[in-house]
Amino acid sequence: MKSIQIAIDGPASSGKSTVAKIIAKQFGYTYLDTGAMYRAATYLALQHQVEQEDSSAIVALLDQFPISFGRNEKGEQLVFVGDVDITHAIRENQVTNNVSWVSALAPIREKLVDLQRKIAAQGGIVMDGRDIGTVVLPEAELKIFLIASVEERALRRFKENKEKGIPTDLECLKEEIALRDHKDSTRVVSPLKAADDAITFDTTGVSIEGVVAFISKKAKEILDK
Ligand code: C5P
Repeated sequence: MKSIQIAIDGPASSGKSTVAKIIAKQFGYTYLDTGAMYRAATYLALQHQVEQEDSSAIVALLDQFPISFGRNEKGEQLVFVGDVDITHAIRENQVTNNVSWVSALAPIREKLVDLQRKIAAQGGIVMDGRDIGTVVLPEAELKIFLIASVEERALRRFKENKEKGIPTDLECLKEEIALRDHKDSTRVVSPLKAADDAITFDTTGVSIEGVVAFISKKAKEILDK
């Protein structure tokens, strides 16, 4: 059966991973959360007190403790470095607030992009991130760029954090999200930006179901061609 690659990019908390997971399930494709991979690299850097900019130390840590994914009994995705489950740890504020400097390092990106492409080569994939349509899968049949206002994104992250028991301040979240967007979009290597052939979709005020329905329709149109 024909399968396609679906790239979903966009700024922090634009709903990419929630939507990407549902689409992957609908189509029976693999879902890859590339943000979790940069978060895992950041976790290792912080855990081992790596100096900022010391990319070779982080690459060595990624070799020593390879990133892998698993599932719990509820079918939720788990993230590991070596055999340590870091699913929750990578969502903590300390990782979130340090991920932008780690993800701006070219050797880290090379290593993770290589891994992302290997996973994509196995078949139908829905991958979410910042550079999927531009760098990782430039040939993806469907490229979506999700955006939403900073206020709405901060509120979404605030609710998510509350559910996970991570204490957060809404105003602080707004500032952090805006700062992370700025760092991710202005970095030299693979900045956050929509691919020329991506469809930009503003999810402000749109339900998850609405976004899923839009992407699903586009994917079906391509598959039916
Ligand atoms: O998607 P998420 O918010 O978990 O991503 C965390 C961080 O990882 C982003 O702010 C960005 O710095 C980095 N990232 C990236 N390229 C990707 C995915 C994430 O640089 N493809």
